[in-house]
Amino acid sequence: MDNNNCRQCRKFGTKLFLKGERCLTPKCAVTRRNYAPGGQGAKTRPPRKSEYGIQLLEKQKAKTEYGLRERQFSKIFQTASKSKTATGSQLLKLLEIRLDNVIYRLGWASSRAQARQIVLHRKIKLNDKIANIPSIVLKVGDIVSPKDKKSISPVKAVLPKWLKLDVKDQKAEILRLPERTEIESDIDEQLITEFYSR
Ligand code: ZN
Repeated sequence: MDNNNCRQCRKFGTKLFLKGERCLTPKCAVTRRNYAPGGQGAKTRPPRKSEYGIQLLEKQKAKTEYGLRERQFSKIFQTASKSKTATGSQLLKLLEIRLDNVIYRLGWASSRAQARQIVLHRKIKLNDKIANIPSIVLKVGDIVSPKDKKSISPVKAVLPKWLKLDVKDQKAEILRLPERTEIESDIDEQLITEFYSR
């Protein structure tokens, strides 16, 4: 096992769960930072980064957390920017309803990387047909299911309210788009919007 994954956590100052539960162990040395302006943290605060540096880091953090390459990420941003909803929150919503992320949120994989593997290995069906593209952005009403019960080994997960899971039949439905407040992430999407608006 390499240390690389929680090194990313340290770099971005947040638990990214790239290897699932590893981030819940002491191996992941990150504790969530609270920058209270002028608070006690002021003395230990790292040297100020440029505005550009801060925006870039936030974009890299989101990209790393969701496991996307630059092109995939900026493509989703472009799609988000065409929506009537605020670009930043739309970006996060689109990232959330990607097939690989949905598998992860359902607890059918312990990390997004593992979710991608399951999809690539043709173990997941979308609306009753094998779907082997992890980056598909799902739609409301889409039904996701494992090819068969042995295809997945579920882990404990908190099911988001925008997903419905029939545990007995192993079928999940996208009920609606997630609200921003329902997306468990400390990404500051405004910084990402600013990065691409430069
Ligand atoms: Zn970690």
